[in-house]
Amino acid sequence: MRIGIYGGSFNPIHKGHTELAASIVQQGLVDELWLLVSPLNPLKQDATSDIAEYEHRLNMARLATEPIVGVKVSDFERHLPLPSYTITTLGELRKAYPEHEFVLVIGADNWEQFPHWYHAQEIIDTYSILIYRRPGSQLDESALPSSVQVVDTPLYDVSSTQIRDSVKKGRMMRRWLDARVARYIKKHQLYR
Ligand code: ATP
Repeated sequence: MRIGIYGGSFNPIHKGHTELAASIVQQGLVDELWLLVSPLNPLKQDATSDIAEYEHRLNMARLATEPIVGVKVSDFERHLPLPSYTITTLGELRKAYPEHEFVLVIGADNWEQFPHWYHAQEIIDTYSILIYRRPGSQLDESALPSSVQVVDTPLYDVSSTQIRDSVKKGRMMRRWLDARVARYIKKHQLYR
């Protein structure tokens, strides 16, 4: 199968993430999209940070994607060394699932930074990349490598940072959250 790999901290997962994931599968660009929740540096997850624990972020991602056919949550990076570089993760995925083809799914914002990524050229040479548009990020489509394809997906102007800030202020932005994720945040008193 052709598997799209969509990574992030998902702290928490919101409709911008899920609508994008659903759209990529519905357009037939991949057979499945795996949402790779990144563990992040444990040293940064102290009492003062607003990074929810890995299990919480995974649980919320599972709740939000459960109804979406073809979208799965993966904790594959849990056992990889930190920081989890994309080239390493993709290589380990290939080893673990030689029957699948892995395609990297990133935003136009990530693409702007891509030359600075660890082993960027090797990623371009080895994997197909799907780039989705982001508000405020320009894409020079005439200068893209042949392994890169630009895809149109719904654009939602929301970020996890905005959601965390809204929870802190006691006004959770429920319209951008799956109802079960909103309940989960409340129950576990996250981002307060
Ligand atoms: P934060 O505000 O904490 O930085 P975020 O909302 O940008 O978080 P990430 O967990 O970093 O979320 O998201 C993973 C990926 O999802 C990012 O690489 C980003 O390109 C993409 N993404 C984030 N928000 C949206 C959105 N509203 N629409 C489409 N893609 C998004």
